[in-house]
Amino acid sequence: MMTLSILALLVAVLLTVNSGWYFIRRAGKKARRQALYALLAFIISVAAAAGHPGGGPGPSGSLQSQPRSQAQAPVQAPAGTPLSRESQTNPSPRREEAGKLRVHFLDVGQGDAILVQLPGGQNILIDAGTNEAGPVVVQDLKQYAVAKLDYVIGTHPHEDHIGGLDQVINTFPVGKVYLPRVTNNTASYRELLLAIKNKGLKVTEARAGVSIPLGDGVQALFINPAKKNYDDLNDWSAVLRLTYGQTSFLFTGDAGSAAEEEMLASHQPLRADVLKVAHHGSRTATGTAFLKAVAPAYAVISVGKGNDYGHPHAQTLKRLQQAGVKVYRTDRDGTITAVSDGREVIMP
Ligand SMILES: [Zn+2]
Repeated sequence: MMTLSILALLVAVLLTVNSGWYFIRRAGKKARRQALYALLAFIISVAAAAGHPGGGPGPSGSLQSQPRSQAQAPVQAPAGTPLSRESQTNPSPRREEAGKLRVHFLDVGQGDAILVQLPGGQNILIDAGTNEAGPVVVQDLKQYAVAKLDYVIGTHPHEDHIGGLDQVINTFPVGKVYLPRVTNNTASYRELLLAIKNKGLKVTEARAGVSIPLGDGVQALFINPAKKNYDDLNDWSAVLRLTYGQTSFLFTGDAGSAAEEEMLASHQPLRADVLKVAHHGSRTATGTAFLKAVAPAYAVISVGKGNDYGHPHAQTLKRLQQAGVKVYRTDRDGTITAVSDGREVIMP
């Protein structure tokens, strides 16, 4: 019975070869050889399948590699985070989670720290909060299963952004570090430069027009700073626009109105589904014209409870409200995770 079916198959294959030969003949020697190998492999696999009904190596057979989450080291995830749900209850995490980009706006009190996890597993960290928040950021990164930071961005040299970066760099393997070309004579900034140097890393300049080579269908382009000088250190902020499929994010650091005017004048695309509101919602950022150009559906304000600066400012909140933007705040919502599948952004 088995021999008969193989014979029948061989006849069918020969007929196919005969009719297809005209086309194969026109192809090169290499292509012909490949076609023959493919046929041979096909015949062997069918014969094997006939010999072991139901046990053949089908398209989803034993040769398929393990789902990524199982191959990774076990991770202690905080209860209720997306990570813990996936690794514990999702029966097919690879199929379900492949192609998702996650942006975690970490709750670091007054300051900024944002972890971007790309669909292919790469990690980007934008700022790491204050010196005091450093250990919190390190702990959070571990909970999000970060083994390596492929890219670290310090938006500008203020302590509430770069304060914790030295501890992060001392803890994790780091690929590339981006900083704007401006210095600050503070202990925090010197500690950051020392950590970079001790790790044998170099600083890559973050400025308008510089893109980060990410792959995975994700594009990341710096759109600020564009000028050689700014009066306010905040306007030096490295502003990153990240796009994944049809979705986009704008990370603005503490860029103020001067930087916003510059970005608007450059006519670079500013549109984003999610806007990281600049300068913790200060009055002097997120102007009406800038907000109109970005046209976000969601905004995230990274801000500390009861901070001394009066952030976020009532006028900024009003501008966001008038623009119909849904606002999230780390002082009220804690860490906020946005998930993009390339078609839409899902917020908590
Ligand atoms: Zn700040």
